[in-house]
Amino acid sequence: MKIQRDAVVSIDYELQDDAGQTIDSSHQVGPLTYLHGHGQIVPGLASALEGKAAGEDVNVKVGPDEGYGDRDDRKIMQVERARLPENIEPKVGMTLAADGPGGPVPLFVTAVNDDSVTLDGNHPLAGKTLHFNVKVRDVREATSEELEHGHAHGEGGAH
Ligand code: ZN
Repeated sequence: MKIQRDAVVSIDYELQDDAGQTIDSSHQVGPLTYLHGHGQIVPGLASALEGKAAGEDVNVKVGPDEGYGDRDDRKIMQVERARLPENIEPKVGMTLAADGPGGPVPLFVTAVNDDSVTLDGNHPLAGKTLHFNVKVRDVREATSEELEHGHAHGEGGAH
């Protein structure tokens, strides 16, 4: 079958930046399995995969508008260490969750000083052009349980 909304898709992927550096890949962890059409992968990659079948290669360049969005400096904030929960020892690279209007929002710790911490609400890949090299491994119909949960089950999926 071809990739369409509500298909469960397994892909091998490699993600590179403009400089050809590999940012992320499925090679270590195995194929990524996701439910197509449910916002689980960036829009630019999702539309490039639409209509493809198992065995096909997809190479696509995705700009920030179809990727993780543009960087927004207003999402970078300086917080006094004393304002963080006591049980948290902030380290650069750590992700903290803040309460946002639509649920928890991830904040990335980008700097730690003696008395303050810099938190960045931008996705680490915001503002970047993404180069995906993808091989479609498998496409199948979702089970009713997967549709109900809104995600794929099984190897490479949720649970
Ligand atoms: Zn589930």
